[in-house]
Amino acid sequence: MTNEPAVKTQKLTKTYGDKVAVDSVDLVIPRGVAFGYLGPNGAGKTTLIRMLLGLTPATSGSMWLLGKQLPKERSEALSKVGAIVEEPRFHEYLTGLENLRVAASVRGPDAFARISESLDRVGLSARASDKVGSYSLGMRQRLGIARCLLNDPELLILDEPMNGLDPAGIMEFRHLIRSFVSEGRTVVISSHLLDEIEKTCDAVAIVDRGHIVKQGSIDEMRGRPSGQVTIEVGEPDLALSLLSRLDYVSSVEVVGGGELKFDLRGDATSAKVNAALVGAGISVERLEPAKATLEDEFLAVTSNMGIH
Ligand code: ATP
Repeated sequence: MTNEPAVKTQKLTKTYGDKVAVDSVDLVIPRGVAFGYLGPNGAGKTTLIRMLLGLTPATSGSMWLLGKQLPKERSEALSKVGAIVEEPRFHEYLTGLENLRVAASVRGPDAFARISESLDRVGLSARASDKVGSYSLGMRQRLGIARCLLNDPELLILDEPMNGLDPAGIMEFRHLIRSFVSEGRTVVISSHLLDEIEKTCDAVAIVDRGHIVKQGSIDEMRGRPSGQVTIEVGEPDLALSLLSRLDYVSSVEVVGGGELKFDLRGDATSAKVNAALVGAGISVERLEPAKATLEDEFLAVTSNMGIH
């Protein structure tokens, strides 16, 4: 395994007429992580995935999968990729097992040898002899994953994989994805569901109207200071009156129990506020800068879209 990223794009762009579906996307997805491509409906997630898989050509920009440049080295790259784009499709009148045999027949003998373990891995062995027409959506999703596993992929790309699954199905899916990561595989998941990405992934890019708004590890994204501060003081009335007069503090409110909340303006730090309070003889028992959550970031994007 090399250190080349699992996915890399530079200024990757796709337009349909006047419409920019993917807008100059610079993406670096390291190996061995679960990566969430998170954005509201229509943000351009599926279009990006379709370009990576060679299902639609890019209008401009460059892309690499597993260190192989696309489209030049596509077949080499895709031999180590398993993907599900939109809903997985199968032959409805064939059984799960027969469907995997059909898929393995175009992939070669190694793929045939992996059929049984792949079914086992996704918990479908007991239903492998039933026709796919009788499968629930969750079972189809799992069969789709089993099909991806036939070529022992280094990279899995899954477009909205948990759509339509019930809570138990989502939890199973999450465990499956984490188990792939623990084997050193990379899993890229597109989703419009924040919770799904936050619980499953190590890193995330938030995408809005084809454009990446934020990109980083889930911890980094959770940990960014938001500018809001909560304090607990011995003299809340005095603190309220002092803070209301400071030009680098806004939106002061008393929360109760000696607690106040306020926002810092510009470059002001909570240490500066602390010094002002202590200087005025107010005892500061607790001072806690709030962190912006991934939810705040995502809500900012989706509210811009007028969804909320
Ligand atoms: P969803 O989850 O709703 O599919 P998405 O983030 O995957 O959303 P895309 O399907 O990639 O978004 O679509 C991005 C934009 O590009 C949308 O505005 C869509 O209408 C447009 N688009 C996608 N495919 C085509 C096409 N073949 N022709 C014209 N416009 C398209």
